[in-house]
Amino acid sequence: MIPVTRTYLPPQDEYQKILKRAWDKQWITNRGELIQELEENLKGYLGVKNIIITNNGTIPIQIAIKALALKGEIITTPFSYVATTSSIVWENCKPVFVDIHPDYLTIDETKIEAAITPATTAILATHVFGNPCAVDAIDAIAKKHNLKVIYDAAHSFAVKYKNESIFSYGDVSTCSFHATKLFHTGEGGAMFCNDDALNHKLFYSHNFGHNGPLAFHGLGINAKISELQAAMGLAVFPYLSTIIGERKKVVDYYTAYLDFRNLRKLKIREHTEWNYSYYPVIFESEQQLLEVMARLETAGIIPRRYFYPSLNTIDYCKGQTMPISESIASRIVCLPLYVGLKEEEMAGICEIINKIN
Ligand SMILES: *Cc1c(COP(=O)(O)O)cnc(C)c1O
Repeated sequence: MIPVTRTYLPPQDEYQKILKRAWDKQWITNRGELIQELEENLKGYLGVKNIIITNNGTIPIQIAIKALALKGEIITTPFSYVATTSSIVWENCKPVFVDIHPDYLTIDETKIEAAITPATTAILATHVFGNPCAVDAIDAIAKKHNLKVIYDAAHSFAVKYKNESIFSYGDVSTCSFHATKLFHTGEGGAMFCNDDALNHKLFYSHNFGHNGPLAFHGLGINAKISELQAAMGLAVFPYLSTIIGERKKVVDYYTAYLDFRNLRKLKIREHTEWNYSYYPVIFESEQQLLEVMARLETAGIIPRRYFYPSLNTIDYCKGQTMPISESIASRIVCLPLYVGLKEEEMAGICEIINKIN
C-alpha cells in the first residue's frame, strides 16, 4: 500500500543511543537534558528567538488563546485541520470564518476587515500546507484594529518567509511534531513567541503554572513532552536536510509529470522558502476527485482528502457559508509524499491521475 505519508524513522540504534542517556540519568520527563538539547538544536536550526516544545500541536493553540486572554470572536480560516477551529470553541470563543484565497488556500486577507465586529479579539489563521498567509497584510489589519494574531503553523516546519522563519510572525505561532508531519517526535508540537514576557507566560502555562516546586505564576496546564519523545526528535534532527531534500524530489516529480490541463496545484506565496510538506491537487469537480481516488485505491494508493470538510460546516459551528473553501474542500486531495517513495510509484500515481484528461 502507498499511503499519503509515511513517518520518517531514524536508524533505531541511533534512537537507542540517545535513549540510553535518559536511562543513565533515570530521568524520563519534566524537562530533562534531552528536551532542552532538542529546544536548543531547533532554535538554532529554525533561527527563532524562543521555542517551547509541547506534547502535541493542538494544546499550544489553546494555551496561546488562554495566555492572550482572548474572548468573544476570533476570525479564522475554514480551510485547515479541525484542531484550528476546535481550539477556539474549546476556549469558549466563537470562530468567525473568513473565506480563503482560491490559489494560496490561506485566509483571504482582503475579506478580514469586513468580518471584524466590536467583539473581535484576534485572528487565528493557518499557513496551509506550509504556504504562508499574507502575514504583512494581516499584521497591518491587526495593528489597526488592536487584534492579536496566532498562526497555526502546524505544517510549516523550516518554512521561511522573506528570509525569516515563518514561526517568527504573529504574536504566537504553533507547530505540530506529530508523526505525520515533516519533523516529528511521535507526538509533539511547539509554540513560538518573540515577546519575552508573553513567552514566559506561555512557558509557565505549559507546566501547570509552576514557579519552582512550591509556587505558581498563574494558571497552567500540562503540555510537557517526555524525554522519550525528545529522544525521537534528537534522532530525527540530523536527517532534516535529507528529509526536505527527498521530499523536494517527489514534489518536483509530480510537478513535472502531472498533466495540469484539468488539475490545479497549490500556488506558493512569493518570497517563500517552502518545505515541500504536502502535494495537494485540486480537481474540477468532486465527482472527478472521487473517480480518481477510487482508481488510485484499486491500485493500492491511498491519498487523503486534506482538508475535508470545510470547517464552517461542522456541527458545532455551522451557520456561515464559505463558497470558496467549501468548493475547494470538496475537490482537493493530497498525494503520497514521503522519504522513500519510489519513482515507479510516483509514475503510477501520475499515470492514473493523468487519465482524467
Ligand atoms: C496536525 C495539525 C494540527 C494538530 O497537531 P497535533 O500535533 O496532531 O495536535 C493542528 N493544525 C493543523 C493545521 C494540523 O495539520
